[in-house]
Amino acid sequence: MSRLDVFIDRMVSQRACLDFAIAETAALPGPVFELGLGNGRTYHHLREKVAGRDIYVFERAIASHPDSTPDEAFAILGDVMATLPQTLARFGPTASLIHADLGGHNLAKNDAFARKVSPLIEPLLAKGGLMVSSDRMYFDALEDRPLPPGAVPGRCFIYRK
Ligand code: SAM
Repeated sequence: MSRLDVFIDRMVSQRACLDFAIAETAALPGPVFELGLGNGRTYHHLREKVAGRDIYVFERAIASHPDSTPDEAFAILGDVMATLPQTLARFGPTASLIHADLGGHNLAKNDAFARKVSPLIEPLLAKGGLMVSSDRMYFDALEDRPLPPGAVPGRCFIYRK
């Protein structure tokens, strides 16, 4: 499988999982958290598709496309290892949807980081909330959800509280 194939599978899976998760959580009022803004493509997708919910973005430093840059009030800047605990103190367990795309090209490093960050993400979700991730996560009490049609196994993961 070429790197292009892997990249396309990842993009197609991200869109399928996000669309599914947005629809599944539409009745929940809590905020949406986007972990890892990057270029802002998935943030832009969320902004286009999510109605009636605030979307907060977590990023070390904003470097996104100008069309895909959140207002200052919705950007939570810094390392997520520090900002996620602060966010739990601020919002409690209210997030309706959390999307994490924090990884780079080093799969072992991504997996090690997923193990570290999972316990900080888990308590943020509201009951019935969904977590969509590009990496396998390590949660104690969240349920692994089957992927929607169009998503490629291993390229995207969905968990429910
Ligand atoms: N989903 C984005 C898109 O569609 O454009 C791409 C996200 S990119 C793969 C990952 C982003 O996560 C990078 O911009 C990086 O700065 C951010 N990131 C990685 N680790 C982080 C951390 N510990 N704290 C905050 N941001 C982090």
